[in-house]
Amino acid sequence: MGAEHSATDDGIAPAVGDGELVVVSNRQPYTHSYERTDGERSITVNRPAGGLTAGLDPVMQQTDGTWIAWGDGEADADVTDDDGTVRMPPESEAYTLKRLWLTDEEVEGYYYGYSNRVLWPLCHGGTMKTEYVERYWQRYQQVNETFADAVIETAGENSLIWFQDYHFTLAPRQVREAVPDSAFLTHFWHITWPGWDTFRACPQHEQLLEGLLGNDLLGFHVERYCENFLDCVDEALDDAFIDPEGGRVNYEGHTTVVRPFPMGIDAQSIRECSEEAGAEFWDDFRATHDIDAATSVVVGVDRLDYTKGIVERLEALERLWEVEPDYREAVTYVQKASESRSLIPDYQDLQTEVRETIERINDRFGTADWQPVVYINEFIPQQELCGLYRHSDVMLVSAVRDGMNLVAKEYVAAQVDDDGVLVLSDQAGAHEELGEQALTINPYDTDAFADAIETALTMDTEERAERMVALREQVESHDLYAWMASVFDAVEEVRAKRADDD
Ligand code: UDP
Repeated sequence: MGAEHSATDDGIAPAVGDGELVVVSNRQPYTHSYERTDGERSITVNRPAGGLTAGLDPVMQQTDGTWIAWGDGEADADVTDDDGTVRMPPESEAYTLKRLWLTDEEVEGYYYGYSNRVLWPLCHGGTMKTEYVERYWQRYQQVNETFADAVIETAGENSLIWFQDYHFTLAPRQVREAVPDSAFLTHFWHITWPGWDTFRACPQHEQLLEGLLGNDLLGFHVERYCENFLDCVDEALDDAFIDPEGGRVNYEGHTTVVRPFPMGIDAQSIRECSEEAGAEFWDDFRATHDIDAATSVVVGVDRLDYTKGIVERLEALERLWEVEPDYREAVTYVQKASESRSLIPDYQDLQTEVRETIERINDRFGTADWQPVVYINEFIPQQELCGLYRHSDVMLVSAVRDGMNLVAKEYVAAQVDDDGVLVLSDQAGAHEELGEQALTINPYDTDAFADAIETALTMDTEERAERMVALREQVESHDLYAWMASVFDAVEEVRAKRADDD
């Protein structure tokens, strides 16, 4: 994180008030693992690499809160007390990390099952990919109860409890019923919320909505997801009273405020990393990956997920090389990808499809001197990623559905020379903020997508700079810290209003 800019500088900590801050997330900020050298075994701690976890860590340190998460590190249990707690970070022991232990069956049902084979595809509009297996639902309920119990044990008067994401849809209601009225529950939903016509297909839709309505404040990235959520409540729960303008729901005597908070990135840290990766880095990178110095570079960076539109993007590039042979040997596409959720068949299928599509394109157009698509599947350090963003002439973000898409913002933040072009799907949440200065595409419209890539490649220096300066201003002024401040401000405001009403 950048030295001059941190969450705590922005006065976020006072917003927590005199209660304890309790953060609840599936992934933990620190994991412990074993390191083996010369037959000796020692324990090492892995620190938050970036994103929200890294951003929240200093807030937790300043407020001495409790972070509750799944203890999934191989050496986690070796360093915790009997109740699963350990003080973090190791050098200052400023807050409590409470690890919850899940069995393999629970992980299979709650994480790989209900979270990622039901809620993830459902929320991204892919009802055809949802699998309503009873065991998944049972275990999702069970794990939500385990997390709720841990929160109830920890939280007291005036606590501020902050749930993260779709893994904890049911816990808020359980917690709300058991903690003091002065405790405040907020939840940020990091993915999209679908329309009613999609959501109603879920057999558990009522329980999911009732669970989330245990919160006092519920946040989504953009207004449209808030509207979709309110619409689902309106359709599904007869006894709910909705104030769409005020973004409020009253259900069974409890009010939930629903608001958009478009999440940002740590723009300063990306910029600093990118500044470090100069011309020498880029020469080395090109040499390592056999990218001719004379070709333009188009880039895509994605977790390998079917929501990211990776195959659609490859098809648009294929179309460009097909209809405009001048771009052969003149443009190289670099796909940085990281595999995830590989135990799920849909993800295995996608990995195969991406590889096969790349092979097909490389076989079709590749020459002795030029490989059209360079595929980087292995981990690359943050600095290298920032350098790749910085020096690529064009970035393609072609999600078929995406709650926000932070990669688009990272590319912009890394554009310290203001000479890249962002091509952005109108199906990504980030399009709301960046759509005016990016080139907009519909990932399914292959011809128009190929045209947009050509427009990006041929855009003159002046227009590139004009667009990128505006994009950078937006991303820098709406960064991760501004996002956290807006959430904490809203907590304060809703809390104060509730106190006035009582
Ligand atoms: N990322 C990465 N390496 C990769 C692909 C992605 O480090 O090969 C990081 C990327 O820098 C970003 C995050 O993973 O910080 C992806 O966030 P995004 O919102 O774009 O998508 P999500 O994976 O959350 O759906």
